[in-house]
Amino acid sequence: EVRVRFCPSPTGTPHVGMVRTALFNWAHARHHGGKLVFRIEDTDAARDSEESYHQLLDAMRWLGIDWDEGVERGGPDGPYRQSERSDIYQDVIEKLKASGHIYESFSTAEEIVERHKAAGRDPQLGYDGHDRDLTDEQKAALRAEGREPTWRLRMPDEDITFTDMVRGEITFKAGTTPDFVVVRANGKPLYTLVNPIDDALMRITHVLRGEDILSSTPRQIALYRALIEIGVAERVPEFGHLPYVMGEGNKKLSKRDPQADLFLYREQGFVPEGMVNYLALLGWGFSADEDIFSREQLIERFDASDVNPNPARVDLKKATAINADHIRLLPEAELAERLLPYLQSGGVLGEEISEEQRALVAAATPLVQTRMNLLGEAPDLMGFLFVADEDLEVQEDALKKLGDDPAAVLERAITEIEALPEGSFAAPALEEALRAAIIDEMGIKPRLAFGPLRSALSGRRISPPLFESMELLGRESTIVRLRSLRD
Ligand code: GLU
Repeated sequence: EVRVRFCPSPTGTPHVGMVRTALFNWAHARHHGGKLVFRIEDTDAARDSEESYHQLLDAMRWLGIDWDEGVERGGPDGPYRQSERSDIYQDVIEKLKASGHIYESFSTAEEIVERHKAAGRDPQLGYDGHDRDLTDEQKAALRAEGREPTWRLRMPDEDITFTDMVRGEITFKAGTTPDFVVVRANGKPLYTLVNPIDDALMRITHVLRGEDILSSTPRQIALYRALIEIGVAERVPEFGHLPYVMGEGNKKLSKRDPQADLFLYREQGFVPEGMVNYLALLGWGFSADEDIFSREQLIERFDASDVNPNPARVDLKKATAINADHIRLLPEAELAERLLPYLQSGGVLGEEISEEQRALVAAATPLVQTRMNLLGEAPDLMGFLFVADEDLEVQEDALKKLGDDPAAVLERAITEIEALPEGSFAAPALEEALRAAIIDEMGIKPRLAFGPLRSALSGRRISPPLFESMELLGRESTIVRLRSLRD
């Protein structure tokens, strides 16, 4: 069975690189009919926060990345927050001590540097293995000096080779990864140790994670091997390292970059379908000629071996275009529902939404569906339908390029609209009457004919289709607004 995990540390707000990792693991699990385990690596009390934890849950739920075992859900290998697993780790640490895989190390950082210098080596080489074979007497003597040892893993004296799912075979030469600290002097295990312990106990088979931690992989593999030897792990999982995500100016996207902030995308009005599509393209491709796909299609086609090892690039233009496509694909009623919070935060609707307002949003949705790239454009596109006539503000640029005599056009439109028989105040009749009057009879160029009407009704140069908008506003409002701009 395929078992993967997403194991973020709850620091800061969810960022693009992190949620891409979650998405790829999820897609891998779902593609293979496996399980996704959601674990929280909260071993750094100084940096971790509950707020971040809740934001992670929010991010996963928003994107529809569901998990089978883990926080908030439980499962056979819980608890799923590392801060609650100390006893489990102590147990494994005792076994690693007993088996000799980890050993006490008394060397200070300065001593290590001194020894390198004395031997004419590069002082930055890192730990030199000096304490590997201390005798009990030597250790006792060092303790007597008041020293508290850390514990280091004995790295194997051979090359470490593995086949990366994304990058193919990778070898770390023997001797290039020093024995590293896995337990601090105060007895607390380091992240490097508890991460593979949890993977082992949760029977993780595949690990997709960022290229930024590729250099820690030989240490992890050595730890898995030690865990196998003491009967804690069954296997070394397969690794795949996902490419860097580059931001503006060809620099690695930093967590603090606004383009990295997942919730900023949501605020602007990315739909989760669009976000998932876009995130998947950061390193993966659906097909040579198709960029738009659904969650289901992603699951069906996803294969870690198709991930491109070269850096991926955030491209907001492309992201927005993808989002626009997904907005078009939503059923109207669904889109209408999703527009509500954006209309609220944009001040068009209040906290309480009346049935009437809801109905107007539903009726206006088909007019804007093909005109918006982001849900956040809704207040600007639709707001004019919700304001009282006397509160409509006509924007500066909506007063430009209205032709030679906009007042005459408005006057004529009012006359035509007033003359429409009862019951025929609807888009097709409006269009027919106004075209005939303004274009055919008055001889105004089509390009200029309806500008004044659009400005009068919506206060904007660009608006949803004019005649449908009139129909939604109703005869009375329409006339009031035309008059107001005429005068
Ligand atoms: N908690 C680690 C991180 O947030 C996960 C590393 C891993 O996937 O092995 O970077």
